[in-house]
Amino acid sequence: MSGAVAGYREQLDAALRFLREGDDYLVVSHVQPDGDAISSTVIIGWLLGKLGKRYVLANEDEVPGRLRFLPLTGSIVQLPDTDHARRYARVVSVDCADFRRIGTVSQSFADGVQLLNIDHHPTNDQFGAVNVVRTNAAATAEILYDLIAHAGLALDMQVAEPLYVGLLTDTGGFRYANTSAHVLRIAAELIGHGVSGSAIAERMLEMMTMPQLQLLQRGLSRLQFTAGGRIGWLYIEHSDLAQTGAAGEDLEGLVNYARNVEGVEVGILFKGAADGGIKVSMRSAGKVDVAAIAQRFGGGGHTRAAGCRLECSLTEASARVLAAISEVLPS
Ligand code: 5GP
Ligand code: MN
Repeated sequence: MSGAVAGYREQLDAALRFLREGDDYLVVSHVQPDGDAISSTVIIGWLLGKLGKRYVLANEDEVPGRLRFLPLTGSIVQLPDTDHARRYARVVSVDCADFRRIGTVSQSFADGVQLLNIDHHPTNDQFGAVNVVRTNAAATAEILYDLIAHAGLALDMQVAEPLYVGLLTDTGGFRYANTSAHVLRIAAELIGHGVSGSAIAERMLEMMTMPQLQLLQRGLSRLQFTAGGRIGWLYIEHSDLAQTGAAGEDLEGLVNYARNVEGVEVGILFKGAADGGIKVSMRSAGKVDVAAIAQRFGGGGHTRAAGCRLECSLTEASARVLAAISEVLPS
């Protein structure tokens, strides 16, 4: 278990009680799920299975193709679904900073639903009846490792792989500042259980699909800089997806091309959504708290990686976000 933060043990106790005392759980994560979201979903499924509980794993969106090799991902259902009219009274939410991030899956919650909220986002608003929010965890999967250890359960390959994927993806391949000694110790233990770090890195980080590459070409051709080169930004229109055959998941990592340029403090990707809104992804080199910027627009995230959604044109969204960041750029 990492650091002796008061109350963490009690939070893990409360989470285990929540999982042990009921049955028929719905496990959910955030819309447009990433590696940590899907991994955390199937890890809770594994844990509930070990506890002899019945459960359904769900997400508003499909499991990204590159994550479908993980155990149990085939059983994640898309909700709401007219053929699946059940309402769940006990829900486990993983990697969601607020209730809205669960998306339309929440239509499958019963009135008076009891929620267990497990997350690592600093902007988490403690929306559960039971909350395990540990903002110094690199990934929700790191908290789940602690939860499994706290339950006294032995790891096996079924759970070791998603644990590894959650850590790998949320640390950017064990490179970001959240790559703590605890993270690397867990990763080492998981490799000891037979996880192939190189095969997973190849699949998760190195491999590109052709549509993904074409999307990257379009994005890079539009990369531009403002505020004396301290803000780098690019955009992808919704029509770019259909024209390249790319899926939403193929946008992941694109924002880093803006952020990684020398001298850039904040990198931004504006993505046109199907309904006309603009999804904004922000990455900070360290001096600007992009979670605070995202919160000003109703979003959230981490100090160095955050996002929000604006209901306006691309021109207006970029003007508003660039102005907000320019205001807080250090001189
Ligand atoms: P991304 O830019 O990769 O979509 O998201 C970066 C981080 O910001 C993630 O931790 C994600 O959970 C958070 N984030 C992205 N969009 C939103 C949003 O609309 N609302 C909130 N609360 N968090 C977001
Ligand atoms: Mn996460």
